[in-house]
This record gives sequence, structure tokens and C-alpha cells, in this order.
Amino acid sequence: MKQLTAPETIPFSYLNALQYCPRRFHYEFVQGDMLRNEFVLEGNLLHQNADTPGQHKMEDGGMQINRLYLYSERLRLSGFADIIEEEQGILIPVEYKHGKEGKWLNDHVQLCAQALCLEERLPDQCTIPYGYIFYFGSRKRIQVYFTEELRASTMTLIKFAFEIAQLASPPQPLDGKLAKRCRDCSLQSICLPEEVRILTRNM
Ligand code: SF4
Repeated sequence: MKQLTAPETIPFSYLNALQYCPRRFHYEFVQGDMLRNEFVLEGNLLHQNADTPGQHKMEDGGMQINRLYLYSERLRLSGFADIIEEEQGILIPVEYKHGKEGKWLNDHVQLCAQALCLEERLPDQCTIPYGYIFYFGSRKRIQVYFTEELRASTMTLIKFAFEIAQLASPPQPLDGKLAKRCRDCSLQSICLPEEVRILTRNM
């Protein structure tokens, strides 16, 4: 199969799509198809409100930086962190998401990738132990621990991202138990997962 040139970097927000579905990642990152339904628009608006850039003092005297650009030469990752907060001298990433916490690991992996970038930029800081995800849908702030397991899953996913990014056409739709994810996917109308599954089975 024809291979595309590997991208220089992958924005860590796309790791979220990849963890959800490799086909979705291919549509969004390689082909640039992002169907704008009400959920995507709501997410963008919420981010705009949370993303007024700059550095602020928090009530407890700690520092908070909104919309910080992060880059990793080692992992070839880049992107914006919604918020970086200082807790006991350690910089902690905080990500804002619309909706409620899902069953999948995609938000955790995206946050962990931000922590890996931040650690590379701040070699004098100790390892970042955790970060937070704030879900607008439930108004809950979830603490995510950057365990060895989550770090390893994130590294594996980064490697996989470069493999999928070089495919000239998208991988097959999700199948088996994972096909449940298609119900909540905004790309259903261009992906046509059921039609592709039927056609593939009959080939
Ligand atoms: S509809 Fe299903 S297979 Fe298609 S991109 Fe979305 S999650 Fe992936």
C-alpha cells in the first residue's frame, strides 16, 4: 500500500481521536475532515471561553497559565494545553472537555501527552504526578494519575499515530465491541461504518 510522508509532529489533541478510533484519526488528521455538529461547536465555544491566554495568580497565590503552547522534539508532539496550574511548585496540566467523563481512555491519554511535553520542557522539575480534566457536562474536575501504565499506553499511541498518519487511505471501521463507539461519533455520515463493514464482509 502507498505510504505518505511522515508528519513532522502530531498535535496531541489528535491522540484523543486516535485512542477513540484510528479511522477517525485518519479522517481528522490526514484528510482534515471534521464534521461540525452541535457537540463539536459546543466544545470549541467552551474552549474559547476557557482559553483567554496569559498568566494569572490564583486565589492560593499559585500561578496559572492559560493556553500554553507545548512542543516535544523527542516525541514529535505539539499543541496547546488549556491551562497549566502550579501546585506546590509543580506545573500541572488541566484540560477542559464538554460533556461528561467517557468510558474510554482518550481524554487521559491526551492529558498525559501534555505532561510528557511539559516534563521535556522543564527538565529541572520532578516528574508530574497527575493532571486534571474538567468536564463541563457534569461540572466535575477529575484527577488523572500519570501512572507507568498510562505513560506506556501514551507512548505506544504516539508511535501508532505516526504509522496511521502515513497510510494513504483510512483503516477499516471499528468492529466487534468497539463498534459501539460509532453511535457517538460525529464522523458517522462520512465514515459510513455499517455500509463499509457490510461491503467488506461480502468481498
Ligand atoms: S463512525 Fe465509527 S469507525 Fe467511523 S470514524 Fe467514527 S468511530 Fe470510527
